[in-house]
Amino acid sequence: MNIILLGPPGAGKGTQAKRLEDAYGIPQLSTGDMLREAVTSGSEIGQKAKQVMDAGELMPDGLMVKMIEDRIQQKDCAKGFILDGFPRTVAQAEALDEMLARLGTGLDHVIELKVDEEALVERIVGRYACARCGAGYHDMFQKPKVDGVCDYCGATQFKRRPDDNEETVRARMEAYRDQTAPILPYYKEKSILKQVDGMADIDEVTTELKKILNGGG
Ligand code: ADP
Ligand code: AMP
Repeated sequence: MNIILLGPPGAGKGTQAKRLEDAYGIPQLSTGDMLREAVTSGSEIGQKAKQVMDAGELMPDGLMVKMIEDRIQQKDCAKGFILDGFPRTVAQAEALDEMLARLGTGLDHVIELKVDEEALVERIVGRYACARCGAGYHDMFQKPKVDGVCDYCGATQFKRRPDDNEETVRARMEAYRDQTAPILPYYKEKSILKQVDGMADIDEVTTELKKILNGGG
């Protein structure tokens, strides 16, 4: 099952992709995570990515398409994948369609998490993750069960993304409006686009997504 989760920064794509990954046994492919790994490794791509991400802008389409094309051909994607953060432009969406057709597959579900723009800054500025296992949390909306201790691995160190500050968030939202939102009509025309209310509780959003993925939504 090949799935795309769409929505602006902070819509809940990563949170939900992690849950679907566990439920359906297919990997979350987050291009943002891949770029952050490149930044940590200090590679040439990583150095460029750092500048682009800090500015809240988008990386070049060709590079991102190549990154995903390499990734989806790995063994763990044999049963499918959940794309989170890709495609982010119409050119990426077109390249994805072309690549999947070439690989003898296609998209099964494209789902937009619909959220009010006012909620996004609060969600992003309050976002943090476990420094060891990467589990995602929020200062108000998704606290660990025991304060300061990761629910999943017990670690006590957490990290925040350098681009999760109010100024960069505004630039990222602008990039979403100008460059990513035009993907929605692209998929709508293909009659593959579905929507879920991303303003609902995290558990409720998961329930709605599963209804769609199980063929009932
Ligand atoms: P995205 O991957 O779309 O950028 P995330 O999944 O990282 O977004 O979510 C951004 C922040 O908002 C995280 O801290 C997460 O805990 C929180 N969050 C996600 N979904 C919801 C929701 N439905 N209600 C409230 N907070 C949410
Ligand atoms: P994310 O983790 O999805 O919020 O992405 C973080 C940042 O990585 C974005 O603000 C972009 O700078 C960059 N990025 C991630 N995915 C893409 C993509 N598909 N195309 C271009 N840039 C991307």
